[in-house]
Amino acid sequence: MVATTYSKEEILQLLSAIADPEIPVVSISEIGMLRDVMITDAGCEVILTPTYTGCPAMGIIEADIKALLHENGIEPVTVTMVYTPAWTTDWINDAARAKMNAYGIAPPKRSSCGSVADAEKHINCPICNAADTTLVSRYGSTACKALYKCNSCKEPFEYFKCH
Ligand SMILES: [Zn+2]
Repeated sequence: MVATTYSKEEILQLLSAIADPEIPVVSISEIGMLRDVMITDAGCEVILTPTYTGCPAMGIIEADIKALLHENGIEPVTVTMVYTPAWTTDWINDAARAKMNAYGIAPPKRSSCGSVADAEKHINCPICNAADTTLVSRYGSTACKALYKCNSCKEPFEYFKCH
């Protein structure tokens, strides 16, 4: 089978099964990393924009994409990284934000909400939704996340920082 027997939409659909390694409940398309798929005579080209450059996940994602498409008989596959425009947390869609919250990670504020510094003083607890939370550390388990503590339910939680 060759790449051209699949439509672009079908390939995008297949790729929506690939999770973001940082947040396994969110797919690479929901987080805004998967930009485009192009089908040419030479095969299938997948266009990605990396999220945080500090996150060492791009190699894993590239390998996952190639493995998944090869399993479906689509090859050759090339994965191209596009760095402009740069990814921002505003590209994370609402479905992904809801999943992050349910997973216990407070989703990033949208830049349209005002200044990032102000927004990050008012992060709701993803566990009990209380607004009374305190920043514990600018860096959580990865550089992408900050560690907060909820003053209502007393649980610590992570906030996925704006970028
Ligand atoms: Zn709480």
